[in-house]
Amino acid sequence: MAKGKVKTRKAASRPVKAVKKAPARKTKAAPGRKYVYYFLPGKVTGSADMKLLLGGKGANLAEMARLGIPVPPGFTITTEVCSHYFLSRGKYPAGLEPQVEKAIDDVGAVLGRTFGDPKNPLLFSVRSGAPASMPGMMDTILNLGLNDAIIEGLAKQTGDARFVYDAYRRFVMMYADVVLDGPADLVTKRKKYEFRDHFEELLEQKKKTGGWKFDNQVPAKSWKELVGIYKAFIREMTGTPFPEDPHDQLWGAVGAVFGSWNNPRAIEYRKMNRIPADWGTAANVQAMVFGNMGETSATGVAFTRNPATGEAVFFGEWLPNAQGEDVVAGIRTPKKLDKTTGGSDSLEAWKPGLYTELVRYRNTLEKHFRDMQDLEFTIENGKLWMLQTRNGKRTAFAALRIAVDMVREKLITKEEALLRIEPDQLNQLLRPIFDAESKARALKGGKLLAKGLPAGPGAATGRIVFEAVRAAEMARTGPVILVRSETSPEDIHGMKVSEGILTQKGGMTSHAALVARQMGKVCVVGCEAIAVDYAAKTMQAGGRTFKEGEFISIDGSMGEVIEGKIDTRPSEVLQVIEQKKLRPEDAPNYRLYEQIMSWADAAARLKVRANADTPEQAAIAVAFGATGIGLCRTEHMFFGEGKIDAMRRMIVAPDLQKRKEALSALLPYQREDFVGIFKAMAGRPVTIRTLDPPLHEFLPHQKDQIESLAKKIGVDAGIIQEKVNDLKEFNPMLGNRGCRLGISYPEVTYTQARAIFEAATDVYAEGIKVNPEIMIPLVGNVRELELQKKVVDEAARDVLAQTGVKIPYKVGTMIEIPRAAITADKIAQVAEFFSYGTNDLTQTTLGISRDDSGSFLNTYLEQKIFDRDPFETIDIAGVGELVRMGFEKGRRTRPDLKVGICGEHGGEPTSVAFCHEVGLDYVSCSPFRLPIARLAAAQAALRQKRAKKS
Ligand code: ADP
Ligand code: MG
Ligand code: MG
Repeated sequence: MAKGKVKTRKAASRPVKAVKKAPARKTKAAPGRKYVYYFLPGKVTGSADMKLLLGGKGANLAEMARLGIPVPPGFTITTEVCSHYFLSRGKYPAGLEPQVEKAIDDVGAVLGRTFGDPKNPLLFSVRSGAPASMPGMMDTILNLGLNDAIIEGLAKQTGDARFVYDAYRRFVMMYADVVLDGPADLVTKRKKYEFRDHFEELLEQKKKTGGWKFDNQVPAKSWKELVGIYKAFIREMTGTPFPEDPHDQLWGAVGAVFGSWNNPRAIEYRKMNRIPADWGTAANVQAMVFGNMGETSATGVAFTRNPATGEAVFFGEWLPNAQGEDVVAGIRTPKKLDKTTGGSDSLEAWKPGLYTELVRYRNTLEKHFRDMQDLEFTIENGKLWMLQTRNGKRTAFAALRIAVDMVREKLITKEEALLRIEPDQLNQLLRPIFDAESKARALKGGKLLAKGLPAGPGAATGRIVFEAVRAAEMARTGPVILVRSETSPEDIHGMKVSEGILTQKGGMTSHAALVARQMGKVCVVGCEAIAVDYAAKTMQAGGRTFKEGEFISIDGSMGEVIEGKIDTRPSEVLQVIEQKKLRPEDAPNYRLYEQIMSWADAAARLKVRANADTPEQAAIAVAFGATGIGLCRTEHMFFGEGKIDAMRRMIVAPDLQKRKEALSALLPYQREDFVGIFKAMAGRPVTIRTLDPPLHEFLPHQKDQIESLAKKIGVDAGIIQEKVNDLKEFNPMLGNRGCRLGISYPEVTYTQARAIFEAATDVYAEGIKVNPEIMIPLVGNVRELELQKKVVDEAARDVLAQTGVKIPYKVGTMIEIPRAAITADKIAQVAEFFSYGTNDLTQTTLGISRDDSGSFLNTYLEQKIFDRDPFETIDIAGVGELVRMGFEKGRRTRPDLKVGICGEHGGEPTSVAFCHEVGLDYVSCSPFRLPIARLAAAQAALRQKRAKKS
């Protein structure tokens, strides 16, 4: 199946490119090309592996039809047509129209209805659907094919004028909003006519004058009047009447659905999720079924397993007598599916037969797609229809649980399980939870304001904010919690900057829940006991009025909303790992994590080390599965009580003798630190970098500080001041630092090396293995390394000769300036290992200072000069090429050269995959990114294996 997927992807992307290059006319003239794929009972021409061409929705509708699951009949216009539509500025390829007209007739024939026939009309939905799921970001139009004549016929046919006029007014509003108003302006995010707002207002006025509280109380006659008012307004604004011809409506809708690919929120979503802009969306034209046709109709959404916890229970929500979006939009709070959780209000209690049928489809679809599915269904007059299935978004906890369970159920292999988990998502496992005592105190003190649905696990404390733009402003000065009646796609930016999200309406399948899950945010939804007033910027809860800026806390695992701040403590996984306060047997999430990590380690080739500078960090690194330390920075060993003064004395020392004295005061401190680290690492390799930062960083700069230092170390303040002035550099990053320091002052390197070897022999004497690797930074010329290696070897000889023990050690270098990579063959004559310092290598290769890139980096990303932030993801074409070259040259000189990477990139999945592909031995990252790196390393190996197979 995977094989097939890859192939179709390629096959499908080729024509899209061809369309791009060829002039529009030529493509138009390709008469044999198939632009329309069917999902009709007995005639299905699409399938699940055609997502790039048919979009996820279209491909899966076809797949469901293939499985014999009842899907309202229809057809998909391909993403290729969408690309053509954009490239030719709103034109369709020539062969398209006859294919669409034929497909309309074919759907009509299946249902015994005719599009545009007032006596027996066929109505359509026109639904967007991209190759990657972009829930709610693009447009869909329902009830299409209605006009004044058809509406009369339909009212007669159904005998339900109220339902029919209700559908009509919804259609005119949607059509005006989506088609006639077009996508919003990219800058102002506003539409030209803002039909929707105006029409909503008119609707509210109508309800007020009629004395109706709810939409479903409005009679047919009033809906009819409202449609008239809408149409008159449209004519007045646009200068053309509302299109009465269903075919015109259809083409207008198809164009608008394609156009919605480039609406501002779709663009934002694509950016956030790295979805290519040239994919385009498909347009699905599908016969309408009505969940709002009265008391035997309903609509709902479901997940085949719980998307928050991953528990293998069918999980969903529904509303009787409602249409599509009503459940997701959170307008009414939905009901539960099964009797156990929903009681007499459940779908199971309401229509047991339909519930059983739905459960059957759940089982079929999950088995078939071999993943947790997110489903849409509608019941029209007692008949169940499936409207959508896709792989469901889930929290990290759910992702782990589902993966492990499905392997146990033999539904998927371990390899598939590993490939399904998003490495970055594992961050969620480390997110804090509320401190039990602090929370208990708050609850006892009556601070519990309300309970909602636990949609995004974790704990969040922050200031209340009611609006997305304001959230972004306030988030700059501290954590915020976005509180809304419900969220809509317009709010995603605000959700992104918030610690947590709280909504008054909507269920576990609402927009807020869905997006929060995907972003990994703490989230509570459907909290009916709060009332949000946007105008007043207040929230009513627990009998109190809360204003913007007041603190609340939300527990996304329990659904609780609590007044004020609550202390947090480390996550379950961290408690086991870091504090050892929890035993694994009491931590189910930890056990899931362990299981996945052990599978990952078995699958990976690339080893994962940690960057750790202290014994404590080293211990955490080991608990997180580090196979060694890839970078132990030593600068902190010069700071702190007792050390910094000696260091300063060393720096201002007038001669070698004085410098040596100061250094010997430092040595015991350093030795102690190394002892702790070696012990924690128990024989695993530890790469220790000699002193790297420029010396001025260790000296005080203010006059009074200099004076007090002078007194403390008994050196004249003038001398210190002079030294400070001497050390001042125009560009410290390129100044006297790295190995240049060690070459200027070999005694510094000697002292450090001596401390390392003394520590090593001490630890060795205790029966613990040690494996030190001494790393010289900022080398660009083999001679630099030669000189420094001599000093290190001398220290080793001195110490080892004294103690008589033999400790194997290596001396190597960081490769962090381009010259080192270019002359790697020479450097490898001396170096026994390389470690790519890709932070500095990126700075020196790109000639960009990371700390000064803020002012242009965004522009560079927008202008596509950079595809990604090169400090986050390794710049494969530039820096990556140097890594590859250095690796190959180095290995040619020294076949057993150990090579790793120790920059920030070592914990970023794309960069990890790159390191795997080049053939490096290990990546090294911060301890907290180890789970991500371990999984990414496994995925890289598995992907390579798959690619080789096919
Ligand atoms: P999205 O991708 O934003 O979920 P959809 O295309 O799925 O958009 O449509 C929005 C809503 O309209 C969904 O709730 C869907 O179930 C409903 N819907 C779409 N097509 C039909 C149809 N043919 N009959 C009934 N409801 C439909
Ligand atoms: Mg949908
Ligand atoms: Mg560096």
